[in-house]
Amino acid sequence: MIEFDPPKPIVKQNEMLKLAAEYRMRPISRYYDDQEHEIPWDFINFMHVAQQATGGGGGMAPSEPKKDADGKERPRIGYQLLAFMLEMLSWGDVGLFLCIPGGGLGSAAIEAAGTAEQKQKFLARFREEKPAFGAMAITEADAGSDNSAIRTTAVLDKEKNEWILNGEKIFVTCGQKSLEEGNGLVVIWATIDPTAGRAGIRSFVVEAGNPGIKVTKLEHKMGIRASDTASLVLQDCRVPFENILGSPEIEKTTTGFKGAMATFDATRPLIGATAVGVARAALDLLKEKLLEQGIIIRYGLPRQKLTSIEREFIDMEVMLRSAWLLVIKAVWMADNRKSNSKEASMSKVRGGDVVTKITQRAVEMMGPLGYNRELLLEKWFRDAKISDIYEGTGQINRLIVARNILGYSGKDLR
Ligand SMILES: Cc1cc2nc3c(=O)[nH]c(=O)nc-3n(C[C@H](O)[C@H](O)[C@H](O)COP(=O)(O)OP(=O)(O)OC[C@H]3O[C@@H](n4cnc5c(N)ncnc54)[C@H](O)[C@@H]3O)c2cc1C
Repeated sequence: MIEFDPPKPIVKQNEMLKLAAEYRMRPISRYYDDQEHEIPWDFINFMHVAQQATGGGGGMAPSEPKKDADGKERPRIGYQLLAFMLEMLSWGDVGLFLCIPGGGLGSAAIEAAGTAEQKQKFLARFREEKPAFGAMAITEADAGSDNSAIRTTAVLDKEKNEWILNGEKIFVTCGQKSLEEGNGLVVIWATIDPTAGRAGIRSFVVEAGNPGIKVTKLEHKMGIRASDTASLVLQDCRVPFENILGSPEIEKTTTGFKGAMATFDATRPLIGATAVGVARAALDLLKEKLLEQGIIIRYGLPRQKLTSIEREFIDMEVMLRSAWLLVIKAVWMADNRKSNSKEASMSKVRGGDVVTKITQRAVEMMGPLGYNRELLLEKWFRDAKISDIYEGTGQINRLIVARNILGYSGKDLR
C-alpha cells in the first residue's frame, strides 16, 4: 500500500522544529540578514543543545535506522526525516538553517562516499558537546558546473603516507565556521592526476586546525546572508592517507568520480526541500495578508468562478505540492538504496523553479508591502535564487534529467 502520511517520528520531529522555526528563527531573521558575517551564536548554541537532546548530529547525513525491542531494524527513513527537517527550518529561515552546527554538506559527502571507519572517525565530532561545522569545497574560479576542470591537486607523499593538497576554492558554504569555529572539517575535491580528467577527481577530508588551509575571503551576497560563504587556499596542506574518500587508484573508469558525485544524489533532494520551505513561507504569509484584506481563497468553486488572484494562488499551491512530492520520492529512494540520480535532479530543478516563481509573485501580489522591508517577503525573494544555483544549477540538473531519460552519457549531451 502506498502511504502518503509521514511516519510518526517525522510528525513528532516537525512539531518541535516548527516551534524552533517560529520562535527562534523568525524573530532574528531580519537582524542576521542585515548583519552579514555576524555569527548567530545564541541560535547556534540553542540548536546544538536541542540536537544533542534528540540524539541528532545535525547536518545532511541521515541518522542510522532504529531497532525494535526484538532487534529488528525499523524501515530506513533517515533522508525523509532530513527532508522534512530542512523544509521546516527553511520555512523558518534558510540562511540561519545553513548556520546550524552539524556536518552540513561535508557530512553528506562523507556519508555518501566514506567507509564505515571514516564515517565513525569524521562524523562523531558533530555529536560532541561543542558545536562543530562541516563544508564541501568543489567550486574553483574555473571549475563550477564543469567540475572535471578542477585544478586543486592531491599528491601522495609515499614516505610519510600523506596527501599534499594545493589549490584555491571559492563559494564554500560554511567554510569559515568549519575551519575557524570548533573542531569542524571541509571535504575538498581535488585531482590525483590532472591528465586523467574526471577519473582523477577524489574528495579529501581536511580537518580544522590544519595549518595548510586558510580562509581568504567572505562573500557579500544577495540572499542567505546569515550563512558564511568563503574562499579557501590550500598550500602544501597535508592530510593522512586515510582521509581520501573512496579509492585512491586511478582506474580507467570514472568509478571514483562517481563515488564523489553520489553526494549529490543525497543532497540535491535536500536542497529541493529547503526551496519548498522558503516557498511555503512566502505562500503562508501571502495568504495571511490577503485574508487581512478580506480576500478568502474559495477552494471548492469551479475555476471559472474564481477571481484571478484565487486561481493564481491555488496554482502556486499546486506547484508547491508537486515540488514536495518530487522531493519525497527522491529521498524515499535514497532511504531504500535505490538509484535516484534522475529523481534527485528533478526535485532540485522543480524546487528551484517553484521557489523563485512563488517568492517573486508573492512580492508582486502584495504591491508596495511586498517590496518593503517591513515584511520578510523581499528577503525570501532574495533567499530563493540560491536553490537554483548551488548543488548544480537548474540548467545542469535539466541536462542530468535529460541524459537519464534518453540514455545519453555526459559526452553525448552536454
Ligand atoms: C551562495 C553560494 C554558495 C555556494 N556554496 C557552495 C559550496 O558549499 N561548495 C561548492 O563547491 N560550491 C558552492 N557554490 C558554487 C555553486 O555550486 C556554483 O556557483 C555552481 O555550481 C555554478 O558554477 P559557476 O558559478 O562557476 O557557474 P558556471 O558553471 O560558470 O555557469 C554559468 C551559467 O552557465 C550555465 N551553464 C554552464 N554549463 C552549462 C551547460 N553545459 N549547459 C547549459 N548551461 C550551462 C549555468 O547553469 C549558469 O547559469 C555556491 C555558490 C553560491 C552562489
